[in-house]
Amino acid sequence: MSSTTRDKQGLLAGLPSVDELLKTAACVTLLTEHPRSLVLQAVRDALAQARTEILGGRRETIDAEALFAEIALRTAHAASYSLRPLINATGIVLHTNLGRAVFSDRAVRNMVAVASGYSNLEYDLEEGRRGKRHVHLKSILRRITGAEDALVVNNNAAAVFLCLNTFAKGREVIVSRGELVEIGGSFRVPDVMAASGAILREVGTTNKTHLHDYSRVLHEQTGLLLKVHQSNYRIVGFTQDVTIEELAALGKQQGIPVMYDLGSGSLFDMREYGIFTEPTVQEIVRAGIDLITFSGDKLLGGPQGGIILGRKDLIDALQKNPMARAFRIDKLTIAAFEATLSSYLDPDRAKQEIPVLNMLLQPVSQIHARARKLFKGLKKRLPDVAMEIKKDVSQAGGGSIPETSWETYVIAMHHANIAVNDLESRLRFGTPSVIARIKNDMLLLDARTIADREIQIVINSLAAACSS
Ligand SMILES: *Cc1c(COP(=O)(O)O)cnc(C)c1O
Repeated sequence: MSSTTRDKQGLLAGLPSVDELLKTAACVTLLTEHPRSLVLQAVRDALAQARTEILGGRRETIDAEALFAEIALRTAHAASYSLRPLINATGIVLHTNLGRAVFSDRAVRNMVAVASGYSNLEYDLEEGRRGKRHVHLKSILRRITGAEDALVVNNNAAAVFLCLNTFAKGREVIVSRGELVEIGGSFRVPDVMAASGAILREVGTTNKTHLHDYSRVLHEQTGLLLKVHQSNYRIVGFTQDVTIEELAALGKQQGIPVMYDLGSGSLFDMREYGIFTEPTVQEIVRAGIDLITFSGDKLLGGPQGGIILGRKDLIDALQKNPMARAFRIDKLTIAAFEATLSSYLDPDRAKQEIPVLNMLLQPVSQIHARARKLFKGLKKRLPDVAMEIKKDVSQAGGGSIPETSWETYVIAMHHANIAVNDLESRLRFGTPSVIARIKNDMLLLDARTIADREIQIVINSLAAACSS
């Protein structure tokens, strides 16, 4: 017993000091790449770990190589950013947890250009004096949608809040019971309404609401007639819904603004692809709705933002609400929006340039081709792992188009020695992380959301995951 204690004391005494370690070639190299504070902390932590292991009898030699490896690993871990890119192999194109819309190259280039120097964010170049940041997106939104005026705020939740707060604070907002939805991530229509100071007036039933349900409760305290897109769920069967034209006409007749929270909102007509059978934003504008709100980072495929389209007098009133300042978007968002929207001036270009549209509308044969490429590469690197190409379905996500499942192709694999949950987490811990699905005890990699340039990275990541 006492000899073991003496061995431990000897080992502890043999450990290098912090200063000695910092002077070694390995640490000097680390110091050229990383902040001194991070390297210093890594050295201290690695030494503390070594001491604990020696005292616990789990380390019987001082292995300098292992110590340096530990220091390098700890430094790299501490130096890595918290928010980082990853590979989405789930097939869900608008995955809210994975950053929703991937930006177009055009949007990224414009963001970099605007961020790298000064800009006319709030400067009127013609007049040579102070201007307004809201002007940059107004004309392109008007041109694309046909709306009279437009305003973009931080997200759609903020857009809805701002409208309710401006037009219905202390007044009633009439909503169908079938539309009092929760969108996930804590956006609940009744809660947003309460926070805005508007008073909720529910009409109709969950499955049926008629026009007379609205008209019956209208009075001088009515601030808004609100329609909310059901987004992530559908009521099917014995149902009745008031059309947007009927609601718009009622509002006009009574002099009460009609608002539609469209949620996802598509500027691109997907009906010819047989997948999204709802009217486009442009059609809803033509139907005569006074205020329309929708997200920038759902089907539109741009940055996070809440787009508000509508009558000029109403948009003016929104801009005068002090809360508009709290919800204003920054220059990077404006830059990304303007570039993304410019692709929509030509629908074919939008389909080609905007990754969200591209991933949703690509022919399934194209996904199949990518799956085959992935399969070939994987099979070569991992000849002993059981895998096959399978037909499957992916979802749009982001509360968009919940009833549509999109035919896709996946690589389904099963490792004889690594449990599927373990394999999934090894991929998640990799650099970069790869997020996969698990189904029927198989690991699924959906080729819909894996970009061509990511195929080789996925192959490398899987090879690493299977060897670690
Ligand atoms: C997604 C959604 C929202 C919230 O939009 P964000 O841009 O995420 O704030 C609000 N309403 C509806 C109907 C939605 O689908």
